[in-house]
Amino acid sequence: MPKRNDLEQKALQFVINTGSKGVLQSELWRELEASSREGSRVAIKLEEKGLIQREKELQGGRWTYRLFPKRLPSSIESIADCPCLLCKDNARCDPTTTISPKRCGRLTEWILNLDNNGQAESGEETIAEGLESK
Ligand code: SF4
Repeated sequence: MPKRNDLEQKALQFVINTGSKGVLQSELWRELEASSREGSRVAIKLEEKGLIQREKELQGGRWTYRLFPKRLPSSIESIADCPCLLCKDNARCDPTTTISPKRCGRLTEWILNLDNNGQAESGEETIAEGLESK
């Protein structure tokens, strides 16, 4: 039997790889060759640590849990259309100078569109807000 920390790490990685689709708890334990008892303990632990979310789901007339990652790793696609990447002022842009992300309309518009498309997590600090607080 793998050590619990190893199992937690493998379970978390597997859940993250399922992305927004999530994975049924039973499928995960089958994949990791863990017992359902050990698996449930690990899932609860990961949820307590705020790393995953468990949602009840009815499967074949029985209640089980689907596990979702709380955070997904950023992908390069998520910033592919960020205006900064092709901006002619990029080299001179700095929060402490006149050309600043704090006052950039193009960046603000891009960030707001992320929110509208549901790509940015609610409650997460935006780049502009983060810069404002510094
Ligand atoms: S924040 Fe605005 S000015 Fe600065 S690099 Fe990005 S697009 Fe250009």
